Amino acid sequence: MVRLISRRKAVVSAASVSALSGLSACASTPGFNGNLDADVVNIPVIRARADRIDRVTVCLRPFRAAGPRLEVEQVGRKTVVHNYGHGGSGWSLSWGTAQLAIERAQFNVGQKIGVLGCGAIGLTTAIAAQQAGAKVTIYAEAAMPMVRSARASGSWTPSSRIAKTDTMSSEFSARWDVMARTSFARYQTLLGLPGNPIEWDTMYGLHATHPTPRRPDPVGFAELGDRLVDIEPQGNVIPVNDPRLPYDQVHKKPNLIFNVATYADYLMRQFFERGGRIETLTLHHPSDITALPESTFINCTGYGARALWNDNTIVPVRGQIAWLIPQPEALCSLHFDDIYVVSRRDGIVVQWLGNDMGQGFNDPNETPDPAEARKAISRLGQLYKAMGYNV
Ligand SMILES: Cc1cc2nc3c(=O)[nH]c(=O)nc-3n(C[C@H](O)[C@H](O)[C@H](O)COP(=O)(O)OP(=O)(O)OC[C@H]3O[C@@H](n4cnc5c(N)ncnc54)[C@H](O)[C@@H]3O)c2cc1C
Repeated sequence: MVRLISRRKAVVSAASVSALSGLSACASTPGFNGNLDADVVNIPVIRARADRIDRVTVCLRPFRAAGPRLEVEQVGRKTVVHNYGHGGSGWSLSWGTAQLAIERAQFNVGQKIGVLGCGAIGLTTAIAAQQAGAKVTIYAEAAMPMVRSARASGSWTPSSRIAKTDTMSSEFSARWDVMARTSFARYQTLLGLPGNPIEWDTMYGLHATHPTPRRPDPVGFAELGDRLVDIEPQGNVIPVNDPRLPYDQVHKKPNLIFNVATYADYLMRQFFERGGRIETLTLHHPSDITALPESTFINCTGYGARALWNDNTIVPVRGQIAWLIPQPEALCSLHFDDIYVVSRRDGIVVQWLGNDMGQGFNDPNETPDPAEARKAISRLGQLYKAMGYNV
């Protein structure tokens, strides 16, 4: 059984928090009465205060009900392989979808190919094409990190807003499996690099005792994550028996995360070291590629494909992040009620998840909402207060 702290003793002053950099609510922490189960209470302390917000960003998930588009099309004499529409899973599925796009492009070693777009999908596709022997030029309006991908949470979320259950084909379902497993395997090869672009942290899933009522998912997003139980570490569920805490169990498990600033830099360097070139240009119509020298292109324009390819099957799913100043001593992920947090080396992601899974669906507004940002931080601050911290 988990024994917990007297609330009075547990309140740690802001001064002592800052003096004890790296402070966690563990058994050895001053103010606690000892004998605590470290598995339960050793949750890193994030200083969830509005005055620590350093930016608020918005990104649009390029969602397609049928799943990402992976098809070959002829535009005049040019071959285009589409590789866009990865919803809330673009970083996670990138290496797998890149591999499948390259197989469809069928180029020869030494052939010049063009990649349209320089986000998570474009960059990984370009590198994978180089590794398969192509000479690659990326054509893009903007390159990493000035793209939507740089405004993602940076977690392994391979089935987030990736398709709708009722429109997902069995072909897509099988393809998702290949994409997810290929990517997951590739990410294991990128651990331990300088700057830790990819690393495992610990996710604390705090089960709210009195969850905020959420409406049923109005969109019907496909849930595929359970299919990866054979490769993803599952962690353990620990009961918490203290009515003073707003949660009654903790699901503690390893969580794969992407430190996007370092990772994007790593990818850009990989691309250039292999002789890659980037040309900045805006494509206004598919026929614009007929003026480019390559005969084969892989289209990784993400949400941009909606306008460029006139593809109205792409629906924007707005997502906002309130970023707190990084705390290297408090790296972790946390999910409590309607709040989702990824404390990365390059910033702390705090998201309010909304009243249902349809939050942001079909909303193309990319203007940050400061009130929503403050609300997310305040909700997180209240959680720590309930745990006994003045953050
Ligand atoms: C709040 C939020 C959190 C997220 N968190 C995660 C997460 O934790 N894990 C995860 O896996 N995914 C996450 N996602 C999803 C992920 O961000 C997307 O799936 C991903 O960014 C899509 O990448 P992309 O390369 O297709 O698009 P983009 O990053 O938008 O790149 C598109 C590229 O195409 C170029 N382009 C577009 N149109 C044109 C044009 N007409 N002419 C020339 N160039 C053009 C752009 O300049 C850019 O270079 C999140 C999304 C949101 C909104």
